[in-house]
Amino acid sequence: MGFTSADVTRTIQAIAAAIHEHRDYLTRLDNPIGDGDHGINMDRGFQAVLGKLTSAADQAPGAILKLVGTTLVSTVGGASGPLYGTAFLRAGMSLANETEFGPEQVVALFTAAVEGIQARGKAHAGEKTMLDALLPARDALQAALADSVSFDEALTRAATAAHEGMKATIPMLATKGRASYLGERSIGHQDPGATSAYLMLATAAGLPLDL
Ligand code: ADP
Ligand code: MG
Repeated sequence: MGFTSADVTRTIQAIAAAIHEHRDYLTRLDNPIGDGDHGINMDRGFQAVLGKLTSAADQAPGAILKLVGTTLVSTVGGASGPLYGTAFLRAGMSLANETEFGPEQVVALFTAAVEGIQARGKAHAGEKTMLDALLPARDALQAALADSVSFDEALTRAATAAHEGMKATIPMLATKGRASYLGERSIGHQDPGATSAYLMLATAAGLPLDL
């Protein structure tokens, strides 16, 4: 028994709702080290995604994820639009045309998504970006499934690692993106992109949010 298009759609809808709910918080985080638009950007993108999801319900999971990606690229803007857009596109591509997929493919699609962000944004761990939540989450997910824990537990560990990674961005010096223009003044603030990345993972895992 695997995950279907309905599972993907439900997860994306939950993520869109969480982003909408926390739009102002994500934007507030972007005020001191950016231009105060991260929540607005993400909410615009995911509301556009919601509008397209219902008519895509009969498509394969990979096609739905690709639709999310192209929609985010064309509607989110900023640095995060092309990065998250690429992530969902790559995730969708990794599934090809399968109608169901299992935990191993979730690891593969998440890995493809993170690699897409790295290829596009050329950032590495420790530069105070969304990757500081996503890279530890990917490692935790891989390790958990190699450990043969249940899929729910693996996803919980990934979200927990993303939470730690998100908090670890606070003392970091930003060396990529808009926050890097601030130099030392970027220290002491939680990265908005790492926060939206954690929000998506925790929502996918069905966990209460601790932003
Ligand atoms: P902008 O910075 O263009 O206003 P957003 O505010 O929507 O775009 O997104 C900012 C977030 O994008 C940052 O908090 C950071 O996590 C992420 N980001 C910026 N540049 C990169 C990059 N090169 N690689 C990965 N993430 C990045
Ligand atoms: Mg911004």
